[in-house]
Amino acid sequence: MRLHFLTNLAPLSVGRKLFWALFTPVFVISMLTSLFLLSTRFDDLNRQLFERTKQITEQVATTSEYAIVFSDQNMMYRILQNALSNHDINSVQLFNSEQKIIAELGSAPTQNNMTFTEESHIIEYDDHLESMSAIYYANNSLDGIFNAQTDLFNPTNQRNLIGWVKIEANKSAIKIAKYQYASLIIFSLVLLNILTILGAYHFSSHLTQPINKLAMALNKLVKGQFSAAKLTKLPPEYAELQKDLLDLTERLEHHHEELIIGIEQSTEDIRRSMDSMEEKSAQLHIANREAMESNRLKSQFLANISHEVRTPLNAILGYTKTLQKDIVDPQQRLYVDTIEQSTNSLLAIIGDILDFSKIEAGKLNLENNHFNLKALVDDVYQILSVNLLTKEKQIDLVPEFCADIPEWFVGDSTRIRQILTNLIGNAIKFTHQGSVRTKVSIASQTSQEITLSFQIIDTGIGIPEHKIHRLFKPFSQVDTSTTRQFGGTGLGLVITKKLVEQMKGKIEVSSDPSIGSTFRFTITLKKSNKTSQYKQKLDRRVLLLEPSTTYKNYLTAYLDSIGVHYVACSDIEQIISTLNKQHDAIDAVLLSVTPDDQNTTEARELIAYCAQQYAIPSIMMVQPPGQIAHYPDLKSLCSDILLKPISQDRLYQALLHINKAPIELLSQKALPSANHEHLKNLKILAVDDSPVNLQLLNHWLTPAGVKVSTAYSGRQAVDMAIHEKFDLIFMDIQMPEMDGMETTQQLRQLKHYKNTPIIALTAHALGSEQQQILASGMNAYLTKPIDEELLFTTIETWRNNTKTFQDQVDDKLINIFDLDKALAVVDGKADIAKEMFDMLADSLDAEKKLIQHHLEKQDTEKLIEVVHRIHGASKYTGTINIARHAGFLETHLKELGLEDADGVAEDFIEAIEELLNHRQLIPWPQSVNPTR
Ligand code: ADP
Repeated sequence: MRLHFLTNLAPLSVGRKLFWALFTPVFVISMLTSLFLLSTRFDDLNRQLFERTKQITEQVATTSEYAIVFSDQNMMYRILQNALSNHDINSVQLFNSEQKIIAELGSAPTQNNMTFTEESHIIEYDDHLESMSAIYYANNSLDGIFNAQTDLFNPTNQRNLIGWVKIEANKSAIKIAKYQYASLIIFSLVLLNILTILGAYHFSSHLTQPINKLAMALNKLVKGQFSAAKLTKLPPEYAELQKDLLDLTERLEHHHEELIIGIEQSTEDIRRSMDSMEEKSAQLHIANREAMESNRLKSQFLANISHEVRTPLNAILGYTKTLQKDIVDPQQRLYVDTIEQSTNSLLAIIGDILDFSKIEAGKLNLENNHFNLKALVDDVYQILSVNLLTKEKQIDLVPEFCADIPEWFVGDSTRIRQILTNLIGNAIKFTHQGSVRTKVSIASQTSQEITLSFQIIDTGIGIPEHKIHRLFKPFSQVDTSTTRQFGGTGLGLVITKKLVEQMKGKIEVSSDPSIGSTFRFTITLKKSNKTSQYKQKLDRRVLLLEPSTTYKNYLTAYLDSIGVHYVACSDIEQIISTLNKQHDAIDAVLLSVTPDDQNTTEARELIAYCAQQYAIPSIMMVQPPGQIAHYPDLKSLCSDILLKPISQDRLYQALLHINKAPIELLSQKALPSANHEHLKNLKILAVDDSPVNLQLLNHWLTPAGVKVSTAYSGRQAVDMAIHEKFDLIFMDIQMPEMDGMETTQQLRQLKHYKNTPIIALTAHALGSEQQQILASGMNAYLTKPIDEELLFTTIETWRNNTKTFQDQVDDKLINIFDLDKALAVVDGKADIAKEMFDMLADSLDAEKKLIQHHLEKQDTEKLIEVVHRIHGASKYTGTINIARHAGFLETHLKELGLEDADGVAEDFIEAIEELLNHRQLIPWPQSVNPTR
């Protein structure tokens, strides 16, 4: 506390310190001197009074001896008078030997108990002294004892006590003297100190004045008051300092002026560059708008071009496939195969370019469907192996799934297939020997979502480290020589990366030309409630011959997991010797066959041996490009022929049906067009402005017994439909005069076409256009170029469809729009209900953009305003889904602000888009005009 107080004291100024340094010693010395003088003077006065009193007492005692002896009163009084004449003496008393007063003079003595002793003594009281002395009478007679030696008498010295004298002396006189002296001393002391104070003050201020002046001058310098600083005058002894100060001031003034000029210059420069920046920013803004516009035009152009290119490709591919079936001459067959291959790669390139332009234009929307991931990966492997493996290029393709991975997910399976096809395709393309493995594991999961981690590991040519950074840039390939060797556009990885990022994932690559490359990526998928049928354990014992260690590990791990016991053999001899020993305990032989001739012949012999000798069936695992059709003679001997890479599912099925020999089923698959008997007499109308495409449809459908009518325009189609009832209609989208969507809407107005399946044939792949197609009243769509098999499957699906078109629409609308609710609000007045709905729906596109804008700017208040507006309106227009999501978002924003609002806002925007896409499907009651 005390310390705190001390530290709070303001430090003394230099002037004060100097003052105290001068004044304090003078003050202390003068005080001490005064005390010393006073005390010695007071002692002196006391001592003098004491001496005088004592002396007078003794004098009275001596002189009064005879007066007492002779009782001479007069003499006594004279003596006393004499003593009293001293102004210090108050009273004098004489006592006889009996201690009785015999004479006294002066003021009445104070009653004190003086003791009568033979010795003289003085007692001091506060205001007076009392002195007492004995009076003797000396009797000097000669009748003393004679001294024989000296011949003289020794005189006898006899002293007799005859009385006492008592004198009282007062102290008042010395008190006055003391007061006088003390006054003098105090006066001198005060005077001296006043003089000292004046002197010290003067001296200290004289000494500190230049320092103060200097401080003030510096202060003015700091404030930039240079002329005031220059006026500072220091005493002559500081002339040098004064000169330096002036010098410093001038220099600073100079710098200051320079600085101001510099600042003015810079300000001017900044102003000018800001002007030019503003100008540049305006130019940039314009350029940016132009660039965006040209980007949009580019994407549109690419989409149009791709459409235009796909349409003729459709015809080329279709006829090529037709030719392939008919041509026998191997040379011609080679030509046609080449045409097919080239067309397919052209299609792939167009697909890539279209995807790229869609991604660039931000138009790539992901779909959500339930899919089986294992089946998807197997499928990708299967297709790629058939296309990419050759007799010379034999590599192991191995999918590896961690045990805890579920089979079913919800996500965009087409896009996941695209990612995997691209990465696994690249890996196979750039690997000459070894393996391409795909490892799938769970990276993380929540109650709703799973993040999967994929690794595509190859043992191929690898990518040099300094070229890895180029991989994900558009149109870039690691080097041009590989490009020539392997082809491709260099867009695959760019598209893959964008797709992965859109699925909330990341992609990265590590590569070493001596080992190979590993591409890792993650994607986040929703969990699916679908599960695959439980696969019960198989109680089987098999012999396994698989020369590749990687593949053997994959197979044995799976066999273990489904309870199949196996003996892994290293060659055919070992199989035979094992069979000879324990053929009773063996259910089948699992045999891997590479396409080289020797291996094939050996395998053939082994299979025949097992079948004939022990009646043990074999399951043949064929490495592409070996086709199942290449082993016609083995079909009856083998229990099953599986094409590598072998999916776990197909292996399970093969092991389950070991003795059933389902080879016929496989051969059926190779000839798809064989049986369309049940389509006979089906009446189909094909509408397309391109005669080539119509011809192609005709070519496919007529042999199956389908009755195909063709229309070259929408108008013609409607006319034909009025006069004839078709079972199914194929409708081109882009047609002059009246497009496919409008034609469909007109057809749906016709009574007997309310529920007829209408399938779009489109080269458009954008998600929003597909939605529009469906919204216009069509049931499904097929993307050009049309696959023959898919065409027949689609016909099968829709001809057996029992649902009315309205049922389908209702299915779609059920969660989006509630017509009853919309009508109930306006007492069933459909016109008003539709008007209100249109007002909201018309504004939604703009409102959606506003929401996205406010979200970007993080402006909660304005966002709440918009959402609240839509929420209010959506309650009265039957738009139940929008109302629900607007309610969620509004509550979220009000209670939690923008924190974690992204997902809720996304759902809301999705709800808006969904409504806009299905707007045309709403079945407003008849009194209402047709929708626009
Ligand atoms: P493209 O469609 O031309 O194959 P990608 O974007 O898929 O384009 O690949 C770009 C380039 O990256 C390829 O040309 C190749 O040089 C290199 N690359 C991709 N994957 C691999 C891989 N697994 N091993 C070696 N090089 C690869």
